[in-house]
Amino acid sequence: MKIVLASRNKKKISELNALLAKHIPGIEVLSLDDIGFEDEIVEDGEGFYDNAYIKASTVARLGYIGVGDDSGLCVDALDGAPGVYSARYAGEHGDDAANNALLLKNLADKEDRTARFVCAIACVFPEDVSRGYFVRGEVEGKIIDEYRGEGGFGYDPLFYYEPFGKTLAEMSAEEKNSISHRGRAIENFAQMLKEITEEKDEEE
Ligand code: IMP
Repeated sequence: MKIVLASRNKKKISELNALLAKHIPGIEVLSLDDIGFEDEIVEDGEGFYDNAYIKASTVARLGYIGVGDDSGLCVDALDGAPGVYSARYAGEHGDDAANNALLLKNLADKEDRTARFVCAIACVFPEDVSRGYFVRGEVEGKIIDEYRGEGGFGYDPLFYYEPFGKTLAEMSAEEKNSISHRGRAIENFAQMLKEITEEKDEEE
């Protein structure tokens, strides 16, 4: 079985491939580049599921089994912000330093530091693009005031995970994957895809 992750990020493709292969032998995850898709997909949905569906359905309309993911940080004291705007919280897309600085500024007078990373994954089949299959993964932690750790990316140095006594940036990749929103969402996705494909096989 071949599926297409609506992404050009090679790390994301190989991560998904490795994890899915454990559950679904012979599965192959392709990227947008692999199918020659050159346009930009505009992620203008209101929530993580909307954006994941926009990406997955774009690919499914081309005749592939499409998979889309969308992640972000939701902070309770900021009513869920930065949420779907996580990558461009401070304005420029992907400016981690500015995003982190703005997060700390906005939390300066807030006592409640509870936050969670969310990862939504959508899967859409070409024979019915109006239907999305969805899973999510979450990890809860606290936003601290000092930057700790050199690993990871984005908000990782400020996201403290109590059970391990570390920020996500202080964890090894294996440690982070074992508890992260993305790791959990991919695990849930593997289970769901296995069930869907078994059902589809039975129908045929
Ligand atoms: P994406 O949807 O996976 O591209 O994530 C969107 C944005 O959310 C990223 O640019 C980061 O700012 C933030 N984010 C998502 N996942 C993580 C994570 O594991 N650590 C830190 N920041 C993350």
